[in-house]
Amino acid sequence: MSVTLDIGAAACTEPSVLRERGQREVFCGLTGIVWLHRKMQDAFFLIVGSRTCAHLMQAAAGVMIFAEPRFATAVIEERDLAGLADANDELDSIVAQLLARRPDIRLLFLVGSCPSEVIKLDLGRAAARLSSRHGPAIRVLSYSGSGIETTFTEGEDACLASLVAEMEDAPADAEPALLVVGALADVVEDQFTRLFEALGIRRVAFLPPKRTGELPSVGPNTRLLLAQPYLGRTAMELADRGAVQLQAPFPIGAEGTRLWLLAAADAWGVGGRHFEQVVGPSHGRAIRATQRYREQLEGRRVFFFPDSQLEIPIARFLSRELGMELAEVGTPYLNRQLLESELAMLPAGTRLSEGQDVDRQIARCRTDEPDIVVCGLGLANPFEAEEMTTKWSIELVFTPIQGFEQAADLAELFARPLVRKLRLRI
Ligand code: SF4
Repeated sequence: MSVTLDIGAAACTEPSVLRERGQREVFCGLTGIVWLHRKMQDAFFLIVGSRTCAHLMQAAAGVMIFAEPRFATAVIEERDLAGLADANDELDSIVAQLLARRPDIRLLFLVGSCPSEVIKLDLGRAAARLSSRHGPAIRVLSYSGSGIETTFTEGEDACLASLVAEMEDAPADAEPALLVVGALADVVEDQFTRLFEALGIRRVAFLPPKRTGELPSVGPNTRLLLAQPYLGRTAMELADRGAVQLQAPFPIGAEGTRLWLLAAADAWGVGGRHFEQVVGPSHGRAIRATQRYREQLEGRRVFFFPDSQLEIPIARFLSRELGMELAEVGTPYLNRQLLESELAMLPAGTRLSEGQDVDRQIARCRTDEPDIVVCGLGLANPFEAEEMTTKWSIELVFTPIQGFEQAADLAELFARPLVRKLRLRI
């Protein structure tokens, strides 16, 4: 017996979307290095950028100053086209010094940024040149984290897409394998590994892998399960290599996690009873743990500014599992294909917005008077000064929120500032 996705009633089949293309307030794709360098233990991220990029990374990942860092910035100063040969020589010499000092590096990413002197450099060609010089022991890849081309989480998409080219072809008659795509905290990855194993899905790999040597192969027997909603380009590159994407909501909240696992179980023909035996206890515990926060959150209104692309899955969780009302759900980009299951689970009439015209959105937010606003750091302080309660969207990316065990933690992230505000008022 096989099992099927049940997304329940009250579905939002064709949400209307407000599209805005004005000024926006989001981080650039360099930020992804903060979580990617923790995940990929033998990789190094060399940002080819300006002092601004170096400052951003230092501020975003300040704690790493105490550890052996796995990222750095090669600051490229302003120069004319005639000086580009020198810039390439300089880059080659920085890379040679870095690799001599850090023999643990197996994979080096050259990460592009937006200053004009960097845009003039062909980092793809530089990566190919350096790969042939330092390979095969060390691979050098490149991607862009530039603020002109990427927002916040799109840096991860660009990084993983560059890795796909390095994956070997799996033969057409290979045993089916599950590929979970998207950086997850190690604790979450371990929980999912245990659940897949108990379900009888044994060939499971994660992208990005912890070590470069663990990069899986890909082919027509690869089944993709996206763990993050911002990986459109990576999913497309994998599909071009023959992989088939499993349609599911994202593993956020008890319900989302169950349906995500169910999509894999269904593809592997796992029986409904066995699925419930394996997943049921964790699912039940997640529901009970999450419901503790329902009293504090039910009926409260939340407004999402576009930032990480996690907004829609989190909004779905808050509305369906905690009874929160969605004033507006903003997302930088809306990939309808990747979010098909999520969109169908939003309450009918949800106001979705894509892109940003920050002043107009601020005006809508003030009119809505939500109980809590999810936004970037730049907007949070002014809103707090207006006595609005805010939640930094960056916290939702840096905190492990996927999976059953983390569902209540995610609810608490929203409950805590609201309860604190109430206490301050008393
Ligand atoms: S990549 Fe561009 S937006 Fe990002 S820190 Fe560097 S200069 Fe700023």
